Amino acid sequence: MLDLSRELGREDRRFAILGEGNTSVRISEQEFMVKASGSSLSNLSRSGVALCRTQPVLELFQDPEASDDEIERVLLHARRSDNERKPSTEALFHAFLLSLPDIHFVGHTHPEAVNALLCSPHAADFASKRLFPDQIVCCGATSPLVPYVHPGVPLALAIKHEVEAHIERFGDVPRLVMLCNHGLIALGKTPNAVLAATLMAEKAARIFLGAASIGGPQFMEDTQVARIAGWNAEHYRQKVLGL
Ligand SMILES: [Zn+2]
Repeated sequence: MLDLSRELGREDRRFAILGEGNTSVRISEQEFMVKASGSSLSNLSRSGVALCRTQPVLELFQDPEASDDEIERVLLHARRSDNERKPSTEALFHAFLLSLPDIHFVGHTHPEAVNALLCSPHAADFASKRLFPDQIVCCGATSPLVPYVHPGVPLALAIKHEVEAHIERFGDVPRLVMLCNHGLIALGKTPNAVLAATLMAEKAARIFLGAASIGGPQFMEDTQVARIAGWNAEHYRQKVLGL
């Protein structure tokens, strides 16, 4: 998780600066670790991470009206010990995503090109359509898009709603979740899967922006996307790449 954080926080990649973004890992059914509030991805160490109990954090989902003070109280209470720092408020959606089947790592960033699209009228096209085969391999055939809502419980509930709708409709856990006017969440079984999905999403966003400047983009057709997504050779590559 620390290595993944430093990869995602690399200044040259422009995914996150200062205290932006956060990462997490599932430790067991009952516990997870998440970046602490105020620490930086680029040089994250154990002291910048909080070991938390999952259940108290998930219980916040029952209280959409929870105040900022109440959220802070629950997050402090969820820590394994008083030596742990206060978890980021975004720990709420991390706790939910880490409860999904086969999801062990989550990386949330604010990549520049991805955010250019998520702060534009093209957000829905970027989330649901695909431009090239490797984007499908690393990012999945389509991604849920979450409209802008206030951080904290409302955002966590909106993410849960869109991810559950995606699972219901497509029968698989998405690799990416896109947040309008906010950023990107990559989720996977391994740190590599999270890094690959983030890198490829940012590359796809740059290609989208480039294509838009010359009259495009021209998206792949649904049947072409489905063929790549279901292609055995690609599944083999995903396995080899640890995706
Ligand atoms: Zn964020």
